[in-house]
Amino acid sequence: MLLTTENIDQLIVGAYIVAGVLFILSLAGLSKQTTARMGNIAGMIGMVLALIATISASVWDSYLASVDPDPLVQATRQSPLMTLALIVAVLLIGALIGTPIARKVEMTQMPELIAIFHSFVGMAAVLVGFNSFAVPDGAGGPVHLVEVALGVLIGAYTFTGSVIAYLKLSAKMSSAPLTLPGRNILNLFGFVLFFALMIWFTISGTGADHEPTTLGWILIIAIAAIGFLLGFHMVAAIGGGDMPVVVSMLNSYSGWAAAAAGFMLNNNLLIITGSLVGSSGAILSYIMCRAMNRSFISVILGGFGVDTGTVAASSDEHGEHREIDAAGAAEMLRNARSVIITPGYGMAVAKAQYPVAEITSKLRAQGVNVRFGVHPVAGRLPGHMNVLLAEANVPYDIVLEMDEINEDFAETDVVLVIGANDTVNPAALDDPGSPIAGMPVLEVWKAENVIVFKRSMATGYAGVQNPLFFKENTQMLFGDAKQRVEDILRSLDS
Ligand code: NDP
Repeated sequence: MLLTTENIDQLIVGAYIVAGVLFILSLAGLSKQTTARMGNIAGMIGMVLALIATISASVWDSYLASVDPDPLVQATRQSPLMTLALIVAVLLIGALIGTPIARKVEMTQMPELIAIFHSFVGMAAVLVGFNSFAVPDGAGGPVHLVEVALGVLIGAYTFTGSVIAYLKLSAKMSSAPLTLPGRNILNLFGFVLFFALMIWFTISGTGADHEPTTLGWILIIAIAAIGFLLGFHMVAAIGGGDMPVVVSMLNSYSGWAAAAAGFMLNNNLLIITGSLVGSSGAILSYIMCRAMNRSFISVILGGFGVDTGTVAASSDEHGEHREIDAAGAAEMLRNARSVIITPGYGMAVAKAQYPVAEITSKLRAQGVNVRFGVHPVAGRLPGHMNVLLAEANVPYDIVLEMDEINEDFAETDVVLVIGANDTVNPAALDDPGSPIAGMPVLEVWKAENVIVFKRSMATGYAGVQNPLFFKENTQMLFGDAKQRVEDILRSLDS
């Protein structure tokens, strides 16, 4: 086959279509644990294909420019080898920085890593916006300027919003919401100002021949500044309890930022992948809002939750708590017919999933019905608990979602609450004044006996006290969750 421009263009478009289909298959595969591995593989193949096609397209464009007799094209030409070397250099820098970080990151730090990665996507969209304003790829014109303005705004918003989410999730900044007086009016003012500047930018951003004007540069920098400020202010106003939604919301924004970059660069694949990420992030945010019984708008407007979970629960309000030791817990498990384990963030911190899996198989071997109840926002990341339990080889069919298992607590002998707190807090249902009122929770207190594994009486992520710890049928098993579960394993063996 001859290497004509048309052939190469068709090959690249074909590769983009196949990559797009592989990305869709990847998302479909990731929706179930049993097919998640296949989904990941489809995504990886799609990404390799997309990279090869995009790099080939850039090198081919450089080659065409280098043989073009038009002096205008000649002025901007660069040797194809140089283009390839630059792309490889950039890829190497990214790989050298990213690989060690990704290798050593703990599962509990994953949301922080995702948040900081989203910030890179945001910044990339801002830089692509500036670049495509300076050197438009294509005809330029008002539609292009609207793309630039939107891309820069969404990118800048995603950048500062993600940095704030990273700082909050890594406890480098207080997770309490920043509630400035009239904060909703401030946000509204920011958006109205953006629209006004965007219209002005579209009319006066470029002069004759689509050359950027000085006024255009001032306007696009002002639009970026509005985006940076809005991202900072809106995410700073969101409290710790709503962080799961913020993580997936920023995921969605980073997708739209990438799609906007795709429009500016005339790259169809970037538009497809950006829209896939943008819409799947938005759907996930919606599902999570529903799981927390919060409206999307009230989450975005922020102001919910208090400072991070180090507040000691006062026993004056709730009465006394009871304690149990590992031997007592083992005895209770030995006599149980049905057991439900509800894991939370503490299980991830303690890496207790391995001994938990061992206890599970031991009890199942003795005929005890052991199942897991997973809250949609348990841990610090959507699906956090499912990943940990799968890693420890807990069978999928005994890991149930909150809605699937909530009815069964009343017929359960023992519930083991392992490092979970907010997700098993009855105040969400009983106390209309509670900051987490209305959030659906695992109704563990309906079981005959509840054992809570944690190190102290401190509150969970939302900073809300938990009346579960003071209920008649609840006993606290203090200490590191992994050590206590291992103690129980030893007692079960003896
Ligand atoms: P919580 O954060 O409410 O509670 C975790 C508990 O684990 C703490 O009370 C802590 O108590 C205990 N703990 C910590 N380390 C250990 C350890 N080594 N051994 C034993 N216990 C330990 O967890 P949940 O999973 O119940 O709730 C998740 C919370 O996080 C929700 O508020 C949710 O909104 C929020 N969130 C969820 C995200 C998601 O996507 N899933 C993302 C961001 C936030 P102590 O210190 O006494 O040991």
